[in-house]
Amino acid sequence: MTVADQAMDWQKILASIEAAVSPHIGSGKVANYIPALACVDPRKFGIAVALPDGSMQILGDADESFSVQSISKVFTLALTLQRVGEDLWEAVGREPSGSSFNSIVQLEAEAGIPRNPLINAGAIATTDRLVASYGGGQAGAHEAMEDLLITARRLAQDENIAIDYEVAESESRSGSRNRALAHFMASFGNMKNPVEDSLSAYFRHCSIAISCRQLARAALFLAFDGCDPVTGEQVVSKERCQRILAILMMSGHYDNSGEFAYRIGLPGKSGVGGGILVVAPEHGTIAVWSPGLNQAGTSMVGSIALEELVQQTGWSVFV
Ligand code: GLN
Repeated sequence: MTVADQAMDWQKILASIEAAVSPHIGSGKVANYIPALACVDPRKFGIAVALPDGSMQILGDADESFSVQSISKVFTLALTLQRVGEDLWEAVGREPSGSSFNSIVQLEAEAGIPRNPLINAGAIATTDRLVASYGGGQAGAHEAMEDLLITARRLAQDENIAIDYEVAESESRSGSRNRALAHFMASFGNMKNPVEDSLSAYFRHCSIAISCRQLARAALFLAFDGCDPVTGEQVVSKERCQRILAILMMSGHYDNSGEFAYRIGLPGKSGVGGGILVVAPEHGTIAVWSPGLNQAGTSMVGSIALEELVQQTGWSVFV
């Protein structure tokens, strides 16, 4: 923890975040294209800040589980890079897309290689390589998801992280677009497993139920050169950590990534469940949750909270 961080008045910071978000609570649109997400109370709001000494600053519904959705792509990416290494970059690129999370237009022009691992197509291709690294097929998908859950629980130091199978089912039933993306990539030879096996793993990791506290804690290694500052576990190498953060900064919020960098200035990842995870290198991690989304699928109130937090802490990476 930096000297400036040690002197931080968290009571005051959390109070100013509360004041900043309260006029906006309930704004934005809850994702309804996945029926199981449509019934979440839009007035929920929680934030958790994980610090390197293991302490946690929380506000609101920080202990309530929500659907992690696309934030899971960060952990899937980290695990896949650990398993398959640089070969992943044959299946997926590292450029921002400037398109919506489920866009199909670039895929044809770019021969079935998605722009980056954080858009849906890229995450499905990444999940496919992960599943292949466990032997492929249904069994590979099952083992990959077991390992991802075990990893998330270990990193969060909390056994209470699980897949919400009702959400996974609902995603699969309403998953025509993701199925189209996967089959399109398969037509270019960019899927190693039967499409349904990789998709079932993708739907499962998007459906993990997790709280702000658990999420911020699980990602803490990303703020400290890949090393969990509390347990000392080197989760990924320093170089890999830097590269994951670069991808988050450029592509973490789809066609809202530029705006997010402009307003908040930290690498992060949003999900249509209303969660946003951000990493403040050398300071800590922040997870915020509020279900109302903007057009790009980023939490509206969550972004306001993060903007205020960065203003109060000075944690922008652009110093
Ligand atoms: N599971 C969601 C989907 O595939 C994830 C999208 C998101 O969170 N942006 O559509």
